[in-house]
Amino acid sequence: MDKRKIKIMPNKPKIKVLFLSAEVAPLAKVGGLGDVAGSLPKALAGLGIDIRICLPFYGLIDKRKYPAEKIISRLAVTTGDKDKIIDVYKTNLPGTKIPVYLIEHKFFSSSEIYSGPRLILNGKYTRQPDDLKRFAFFSRAALAVAKKLNFKPDVMHLNDWHTAPVAGFIKTLNQQDNFFAKTKTLLTIHNLANQGINKNNNYLADGILNADLINTVSPTYAKEILTKEYGANLEKILKKRKKDLYGILNGIDTGFFNPATDNLISQKYSFKNLEKKTANKLALQKQLGLPLDKNMALVGLISRLVWQKGLNLITENFSQLNCQFVFLGTGQKEYEQQLLSLSKKFPRQFSALIKFDEKLAHQIYAGADIFLMPSRFEPCGLGQIIAMRYGSVPLVRKTGGLADTVNHKVGFAFKKYSGQELYKTIDKALTVFYKNKKFWRRLQLNGLKQDFSWNKPAHEYLKLYKKLKK
Ligand code: ADP
Repeated sequence: MDKRKIKIMPNKPKIKVLFLSAEVAPLAKVGGLGDVAGSLPKALAGLGIDIRICLPFYGLIDKRKYPAEKIISRLAVTTGDKDKIIDVYKTNLPGTKIPVYLIEHKFFSSSEIYSGPRLILNGKYTRQPDDLKRFAFFSRAALAVAKKLNFKPDVMHLNDWHTAPVAGFIKTLNQQDNFFAKTKTLLTIHNLANQGINKNNNYLADGILNADLINTVSPTYAKEILTKEYGANLEKILKKRKKDLYGILNGIDTGFFNPATDNLISQKYSFKNLEKKTANKLALQKQLGLPLDKNMALVGLISRLVWQKGLNLITENFSQLNCQFVFLGTGQKEYEQQLLSLSKKFPRQFSALIKFDEKLAHQIYAGADIFLMPSRFEPCGLGQIIAMRYGSVPLVRKTGGLADTVNHKVGFAFKKYSGQELYKTIDKALTVFYKNKKFWRRLQLNGLKQDFSWNKPAHEYLKLYKKLKK
């Protein structure tokens, strides 16, 4: 018998976190915010944190796929005008035991996550006023739910402008009772360009001023947003909070994005048999109606089609490049039209799919040789990381998280925002692709072998939580 004494560790209380987001993949996703909210909490739970998620119960959430039980009926939420009544459902983040509290109210019953198209004025985003009302309400409701469940979080983890109001609301609530007296707030900025603005409010600015700590999603973007060029008019208040501002690079769900186990692609592969990737290119060319040619370079782009993403750099003269292009995305009509017209004019070379399609996205990550992200600015960017995970070589503008993730060992980058620079960089990449297969393979393998998981970033978030709990 083993006589060694078993040391009994005193049970350390778990850190309790309520994680609030307007998107959580796979339940409801539009872009990278959804990816992060659907995967970071898993890694944090793995570190022993009692983390729970709060999400609006959008009409688009598939109730059959994600069954939810009602846990609260008719809870009154105090708002500026009069009380509103919500029901609360609980489901688990798929594949985990992490509770997701779904807040049901007619505000969220439509089939869209965001109620109106984004208004884009001079390159700056703003939201329809309706969305400001919806998410301020969601923020208040999340606090009411925590209280009703008697869940006193150490940290309210707020994401983007939608839930930033919580940082201010908590301060007001603390003047009334002490339920949240020990609760601190962390505001993660996934994109400074979306601020939640109307005549009298700027939700993100309020959040930045009120949150206990702030972080953004890459070290470079954390520095860039202190400048006029990238600060989106918030650089002054961000500078005030500089000592509380951190940059933590996003990870991805390496279980979901894994070419070795991905059921959405035609041929699974890994770094051990990368030659099998070619079958995915051929399947994609066939599906898109492009000429079947395993030796032809295929350039992919998957993106929200908005001003930020640098789409106006892609022009007709790109038809002179010796490669095929596939574009997948939705967004502003002008960019949708621009990409569609390229595909109409050069159908054997350009393919444009204007829709949101997770399966096709995986097929493009797996089938492409080069993955484009010519963004004007990019807080982190997940596309280039997912691309590397699938052995596609990223070609990016050197800004924000793109600068932090893509160097000459894994891909190609250009600095100046111009179509000519992008064209030249693609041309350079194509020369390597056609003339130096060995070097190309090296780029792919270097990308594939990196650790893109949440392990490291989750520890960095834990450090911030601990700082707040002190
Ligand atoms: P952003 O957060 O600005 O949208 P990211 O690169 O951080 O950009 O994340 C984008 C995420 O959304 C990636 O997972 C990308 O594959 C996905 N995505 C974007 N557009 C589409 C689309 N039309 N269909 C499928 N997935 C998409």
